[in-house]
Amino acid sequence: MRFFGRILASAALMVGLVVGYGPVEMSSAAAYHLEHCNFATKHTKRITGHPATTAYRGVADGAAAEWNRSRATTHVTVRGGGVDIVSYDHNYGNTSWDGETFYTCSSRHTVSSTVTANLNRYYADHYTHLEKTIVLTHEFGHALGLAHQTHTGCHAPPIMTPSALQPYHDCGRKYPQGDDIRGLSAIY
Ligand SMILES: [Zn+2]
Repeated sequence: MRFFGRILASAALMVGLVVGYGPVEMSSAAAYHLEHCNFATKHTKRITGHPATTAYRGVADGAAAEWNRSRATTHVTVRGGGVDIVSYDHNYGNTSWDGETFYTCSSRHTVSSTVTANLNRYYADHYTHLEKTIVLTHEFGHALGLAHQTHTGCHAPPIMTPSALQPYHDCGRKYPQGDDIRGLSAIY
């Protein structure tokens, strides 16, 4: 798939911290990458969607539910109606990404304000409701502290695959998978 989510961080608040694809924590049983910037505790994350059109109504709630549906719920829980994570949908044009996540990070590697996850309507307007939800689920993974995890094959392809819809289009997988959950376990 041509499009992929990306992480942007506020340079002004990134003192002493390089954000990118962090060190690979990998073994034969687990593989995940961390942003090395995340919420400080495993408190319940409050998520609010701000749908610009009816087509995006419920997407944020659905993406939150994707995480709660998974075994990750034992490590992190997300709920509607709050300001830990907010999501918006706008037409950002032909940018090559369909979703993106913004955060600012403290020197203690914790997010220092509300995390924003955006869907780019230039692409996402052509997606099904499920596809919109999958992309935002991937973005919420970034918001929770997960970085991209490259994967091949259809055995539990992570939702953090760089091309967020690839596990669904190639393998029919639409939920966070084992590596995603092990990554959250390592954080929280
Ligand atoms: Zn991404």
